[in-house]
Amino acid sequence: MKNITVIGAGTMGNGIAHVFAQSGFAVNLVDVSQESLERGLKTIAGNLERMIAKEKISEADKAATLNNITTFTDIAEAVKNADLVVEAATENLDLKLKIFKQIDEAAPANAILASNTSSISITKIASVTSRPKQVIGMHFMNPVPMMKLVEIIRGYDTTDEVTKAIMEMSEKLGKIPVEVNDYPGFIANRILMPMINEAIYSLYEGVAGVKEIDEVMKLGMAHPMGPLQLADFIGLDVCLSILEVLYEGFKNPKYAPCPLLVNMVTAGKKGVKSGEGFYDYSASKKAEKLAAQFTK
Ligand code: NAD
Repeated sequence: MKNITVIGAGTMGNGIAHVFAQSGFAVNLVDVSQESLERGLKTIAGNLERMIAKEKISEADKAATLNNITTFTDIAEAVKNADLVVEAATENLDLKLKIFKQIDEAAPANAILASNTSSISITKIASVTSRPKQVIGMHFMNPVPMMKLVEIIRGYDTTDEVTKAIMEMSEKLGKIPVEVNDYPGFIANRILMPMINEAIYSLYEGVAGVKEIDEVMKLGMAHPMGPLQLADFIGLDVCLSILEVLYEGFKNPKYAPCPLLVNMVTAGKKGVKSGEGFYDYSASKKAEKLAAQFTK
């Protein structure tokens, strides 16, 4: 596989394009507007700059990486020579199904189609294509250039050959792939989100305060950040929507989102992105300082 197309130049898409390009692949990066593409490229350049400052790469590596990326606003044009397409567009079922139909029509018949979705069924995405055996989940973690894990999700029909090819490709990116099957939340979110939900329930029931809950998990379990702070970083709306996928998918009350989480999202408190969640990020810029600490 040489030619990679990445759909979406947002938080995850620009990181995914970055790691492929830095590993020497030719990357076609697609988004809906030139503006979003430029924003994505600017982020990649900034992240490469930081790697130069830390003496992890050279100026020449930066130039070569950026040179490997070509931008597009037309999906059909961007996938027509692709060996692998990695979709990292906005998390919305109808949008993803529409994009996969488009990719399936325009990409070469042997191309593998991957999605970076956090919560949508890979089997469902595969079902709208003519090649469900070649559809797979490649769930990168944020921030992509830093995080080693790629959760590789096998849909119901995904073949052994396609899984092996994607596991090997992930290793070529310097990542550690882990294979899992396609059930709600896969593994990462199936385990992480109930922990976050339980932390919110503990707060809601008055067992302990925000700082106390996070301190226990940081100091006692060696987690780099507490579950409530992590929820703020992920986005409380994103946490709620993944819990709803788990609840709907398993029809098991243990996944029911805590009413406090529902209330906070309804009130517009979404965590770092809205300036307030379990912590207040508005004036202090505490979130940025903490983020810098964790992405060193
Ligand atoms: P984002 O909002 O930062 O970026 C999404 C990008 O997709 C935007 O730039 C948007 O313009 C673009 N887009 C929308 N429709 C498109 C289309 N038709 N064609 C091309 N581009 C289109 O979102 P994100 O956080 O990068 O999330 C992307 C995917 O990654 C989602 O499926 C999400 O579940 C998954 N994910 C996110 C995280 C995370 O921490 N943010 C972690 C793992 C997986």
